[in-house]
Amino acid sequence: MITCSKERMEDLIVTFSKFGDAGHGGITRYSLSPEAHQARDEFVKRMKAIGATIETDDLANVYATIPGSDSNAKRIVMASHVDSVKNGGNYDGVLGVLVGMEAMQTIVENKIPHTHPITTMIWTNEEGSLYPPAMMSSGVVANDYLPEAIAKKFKLENMLASKSVLDKTKTFGEALDASPYKGDKSNRLNPDKYKAMFELHIEQGPILEDAGNEIGVVTCVLGMFNYRIRFYGQADHAGTTPMHKRQDALFAAAKALVFLHEEIDKLGRPELVYTTGEIVCHPCVHTVIPDMIDFSIDVRHEDPAVRQQVLDIIKSLDGKTIEKCKCEVELAWQRDTVYFNKELVGFVKESADELGISNQYINSGAGHDAQFASYMMPTTMIFVPSKDGHSHCEPEFTTVEQCTAGASVLMHAILKTDKK
Ligand SMILES: [Zn+2]
Repeated sequence: MITCSKERMEDLIVTFSKFGDAGHGGITRYSLSPEAHQARDEFVKRMKAIGATIETDDLANVYATIPGSDSNAKRIVMASHVDSVKNGGNYDGVLGVLVGMEAMQTIVENKIPHTHPITTMIWTNEEGSLYPPAMMSSGVVANDYLPEAIAKKFKLENMLASKSVLDKTKTFGEALDASPYKGDKSNRLNPDKYKAMFELHIEQGPILEDAGNEIGVVTCVLGMFNYRIRFYGQADHAGTTPMHKRQDALFAAAKALVFLHEEIDKLGRPELVYTTGEIVCHPCVHTVIPDMIDFSIDVRHEDPAVRQQVLDIIKSLDGKTIEKCKCEVELAWQRDTVYFNKELVGFVKESADELGISNQYINSGAGHDAQFASYMMPTTMIFVPSKDGHSHCEPEFTTVEQCTAGASVLMHAILKTDKK
């Protein structure tokens, strides 16, 4: 079987690591920044060199397409992002674009026959690190197909007004207007012109590495919910209020958090993940007993029945009084598990098996552009290992061999999709 080139893969990784190089092993490459434009320029230069046609849409998403034998056939697209978080690594996002480039070059070089045009695409502003929210342009492009509660969070006019987190004034829309890559809305990814979308991404967790597998055949993006849990107490002086008279909202919240961990762990679901990552304390003064604590709890699991069990535990706190403080529980937001297209998932599995590359089924705990695209057209994802499970940081690492194996699996999955 034809496989992708390790030498070219390495050259791609090294070259793109220079755009936004932060000087200590990683990059800071905000969307629509000069660095992000350098990455797009390099992408365009290399894709033109293999005979690809370049298009851009109104969100500066970039598409490089090589023709198939049937110019009227729908395109098959490999898509990811080249923007990063602050002090991110050299693999999150960009690898999905680089493997697309490498797969297309291998197809062109080996003159592998295919019917459908094949496209590699760069999504704009997946991380949302400078202009929130994350997955912005896939949220806009797939908006008509998304569940209403998600769609309303990605209305184009609101996205264009999103302000830079750095200078608090410049908007995403202004950055877009200034970008040479802003193009025509008619070029947007859409199910009339595109048959299927693939996104290869680093796993961002330790599961593949721990299992010794090189490829994750992704089946779904986990369903999740996010609740806010609040406790109301009484603010009083830290030096004059006896302990037994206090209504300390932070102490109550701490007890509730321990209760949640103990009860949720009793469910005995090692694949269940839950996180309290945000806490608001009022008045947050070291001499004052807190009178209000508001904390988040983010819960992710594939099975809605398991999520419901966790929800029952969380809701058992609602209206309860702990340490003389009343508890209130409120839904922030939720989404169902997004299952990828079964046929495409099968093509990924078959390709890895036929290439003799160790693989396993896996789900995605993180959100990706592919999850929005999957509401619009057949879509799936491929994971490659992340060393020590690290991502969104400079130690992020995947070996060249693993990246190349990912490119080969992706290419063969594309070719299988082409034949179908
Ligand atoms: Zn990413």
